[in-house]
Amino acid sequence: MSLKIALAGNPNTGKTTLFNALTGSSQHVGNWPGVTVEKKEGLLRADKSVVVEDLPGIYSLSPYTLDEVVARNYLTKERPDAILNIVDASNLERNLYLTTQLLELGIPMVIALNMRDVLQSRRDRLDAGCLAESLGCPCIPISALRGDGIPAVVQTVLDAAHGKGTRMPHPIAFDAPVERELASVAVILKGKIAPELERWASIKAFEQDWEALAEFKLGKEDMAKLKAVAEEAEKRLDDTGSVAITCGRYAFSERLVGRCLAIKAAGALTASDRIDRVVTNRWLALPIFVAVMGLVYYIAISTVGTMGTDWVNDVLFGEIVPRWLDTMQERLRLSAWLFSLVKDGIVAGVGSVLGFLPQMLVLFALLAILEDCGYMARIAFIMDRLFRRFGLSGKSFIPFMVGTGCGVPGVMSSRSIENINDRRLTVMTTTFMPCSAKLPIIALICGAVFDGSFWVAPAAYFIGIASIIVSGVMLKKTRLFAGDPSPFVIELPAYHWPGVMGVLRTVFERGMAFVKKAGSIILLATVLVWFLSSYDFRMRQVDEKESMLCTVSSVIAPVFAPTGFGDWRATAATITGLIAKENLVGTYRVLYQPPEDGTDGGQANEAGRTEETAALQPAESAVEEEPEDGSDYWEDFRRSYTPLAAFCLLIFNLLCAPCFAAIGAIHREMSSPRMTLFAVSYQCVFAYAVSMVVYQFGRLFGAERHFGFGTIAAAGLVVCAFYMLFFKKTFKAEEDR
Ligand code: GDP
Ligand code: MG
Repeated sequence: MSLKIALAGNPNTGKTTLFNALTGSSQHVGNWPGVTVEKKEGLLRADKSVVVEDLPGIYSLSPYTLDEVVARNYLTKERPDAILNIVDASNLERNLYLTTQLLELGIPMVIALNMRDVLQSRRDRLDAGCLAESLGCPCIPISALRGDGIPAVVQTVLDAAHGKGTRMPHPIAFDAPVERELASVAVILKGKIAPELERWASIKAFEQDWEALAEFKLGKEDMAKLKAVAEEAEKRLDDTGSVAITCGRYAFSERLVGRCLAIKAAGALTASDRIDRVVTNRWLALPIFVAVMGLVYYIAISTVGTMGTDWVNDVLFGEIVPRWLDTMQERLRLSAWLFSLVKDGIVAGVGSVLGFLPQMLVLFALLAILEDCGYMARIAFIMDRLFRRFGLSGKSFIPFMVGTGCGVPGVMSSRSIENINDRRLTVMTTTFMPCSAKLPIIALICGAVFDGSFWVAPAAYFIGIASIIVSGVMLKKTRLFAGDPSPFVIELPAYHWPGVMGVLRTVFERGMAFVKKAGSIILLATVLVWFLSSYDFRMRQVDEKESMLCTVSSVIAPVFAPTGFGDWRATAATITGLIAKENLVGTYRVLYQPPEDGTDGGQANEAGRTEETAALQPAESAVEEEPEDGSDYWEDFRRSYTPLAAFCLLIFNLLCAPCFAAIGAIHREMSSPRMTLFAVSYQCVFAYAVSMVVYQFGRLFGAERHFGFGTIAAAGLVVCAFYMLFFKKTFKAEEDR
C-alpha cells in the first residue's frame, strides 16, 4: 500500500505552491483564501509510491465550513502516514493555532516554515530549532515560491511517514486546571480507543464536540459519563471547555513566538504596509480598484490583445485557412454539402471563437499578475467594506474573482462561506461576472460595433459587480436569504513580485482549456448550428431563412423585441450560448456567411436587421461593401444592430443563465432542484429586465426620442427596483414588529 502524506495549513500559506513543487503537478495557485475547495492528490516526484494530498486551507479543525469538514474528515478518518503542516512564517502566531491542533492527532508531523524569503526581507530571525524543540517535530524553513528547502522537506517527511527516527509530535500542555480536567476525561477513555488518539479524543470530549467523538463508537454509558464530567468541569472552570482550550492554544502560540522569533524592526512599516496605506485607503481604494480593473480590461480587449486577434481573425481564419481549403477542394472535390460543413460551419465557427484567444491570453496574464502579487486579496478586503454596507459579506467576493476565470470553480469556491443563505446568494450571483467564455462576446461587440471603444470591456466587468450588489441587496430582504452577513477574515499577504513561471503556467492552462473547449464542445455546437441553419424540417438543403433554426428562433425572437435584439439570429445565438458562451460568437459567424457572389447579400442582411437600423442605413450599402478577403465579415453583424441594441445584447448575455456546466455547478452547490430553478430563472429575469431598461431608456433619451409601451414597462421596473433597494424593510425587521 502506498504511503500518504497530507499537506495541511491555513489558507493562502503556499500549500498548493508546495504541492506543485513536490509532485510536479500544476494545480492552480491562488493568492487569496478559499481556492482549493476539494482535496487534490498527486504522486511525490522523489518517490512515486508516495501520495501527497493538498487539503483545503483551514484555520482550525472545528468544522465550521464545508472545506474544513473535508480537511478534518480526511485527517481524522483516513489518517495519513504523515502530516506536512505548512506554516506561513511571516504570520507565525496565527498559523500556530492550527498547528497546536494537528499535533494532537497522533500522526507523525513535519512543519514547513514557508515564506522564508519574506522573513529574510524583513530581516526577522526565526529559530527553527527552538520551535522544533517545543513542538516535538522537525521544523524546516523553506520558500515554496523560490524552491529552497524543498529537498530537506521531502527527506524529512518521507522519514516521518516511514516512521524512521522521528518521535510522535507532543501535544501542547494547557494550564494546570485544564490539564486536571483533561486527565479525568482521559481516565474514562483509557483502553477504549487507540493510545495515540487519546489526547485528541479527551480534548474533543472536554470541548463537548460530540460529532468528533461519534467516530470512536463509544458505548452509551461511556458517552454519558464523558458528558457528565465535561459539564462538571465547565462549572468548576466557570468557562466552556472550548473557550478554555482556545485560550490555551493562543496563549501557547504567543509564548512560543516570543521565544523563537526575533523581530528586527517591530512596529516599522514594511514596503507592503506603505503600498497598502494608499491602495486600501478609505477614499482612494475604490477609485484605484476601478482604475486598475478598467485598465486591465481596456488593455486586453481594446489594445494589445486586439492586434493578435485581428491577425488571427482576418489573416489566419480570414485568408490563409479559407484559401488553403479552396485549394484542397480543387484536389479532393468533396461534395458541396461536406465542403460547406467544413468551410462555413467548422472553420468559420471554431475559427471565429479561437480568434479571440490573443485577447484572452493578455487578460489571463494581467489577472494572474494582479492576483499573484497580492492585489486581488486587497480587493476582497476593500469590497468587504463596501459589501458590508449592503448587508453582504466580503467573503462572497472571492468566488466572484475566481469566477472571472470560469464560473464553475467560482461557484465551487463559495464553499468557504459558513452561512447557508449567504452561500446560496453567492452561488446565484457568481456567474454575473464576465467569465473568460464571455470574453469573445465582449470583444466582438466592442470591436465590431464600438470600434474598440475603451469603455465597453470595463463596463462589462462593472455591470457584473453592480448586478451582484443590486441582486444581493434585493434578495437579502426576502425571507429566503435574510440574515447577517458572515464575518470575513482575510490575511493580506505581503506583496511580492509575481512569479513569471506561475503566471505563464496559469495563462497556458487557461488558454489550453479554451482551445480544448473550442475543439470539442464548440466544434460540435457549430456543426449543429450549421446543420440547423442549412436544412429545413424535411431535411432539404435550403436557404437559412427557411431553415429549422430560423423557423424556431423566429417564434421565440419577438420575446426579445423590448430589449432591442428581437431578430432570429440573436435568439439562436443566445440559445446556443447556453451550451458554452463562446458559441454566441461562433453561431453568429456561421449565420453571417459572406455571400459567394455578392448578389443576395443585401437581402440576407435585411432579414436580421431591426426596424430602426433598416431605417438608418440604406440596404444597398450592404452589397457593395462585401470585402474581397472576408476580413470584414463582422460587418454584417454591425449593420444588424444599433449600438444601443448591440450593447443590450451584450448585457443580456452577460447576466442571463450561464452555460450548462455552470448551471450544473450551481445545482451541486444548491443541492436542491427548486433552488437551482429559482437561481436560473432569477438570472434570466434579471438579465431581461436590465437590458430592457437600458434599451428603452436609451431610446427615450437617445437620438430617437422614442416613447411607447416599452418605456412605461421599463419605468415600472425601475420603480420596483428602487422600492426593493431603498424602501423595503428587511425580512427580519418586519418580523420584529
Ligand atoms: P494555498 O492557498 O495555501 O494553497 O497557497 P498558494 O500555494 O495558492 O499560495 C498563495 C500565495 O502565496 C501565492 O501568491 C504564492 O505565490 C505565494 N507564496 C507561496 N509560497 C511563497 C513563498 O515562499 N514566498 C512568498 N513570498 N510567497 C509565496
Ligand atoms: Mg491552494
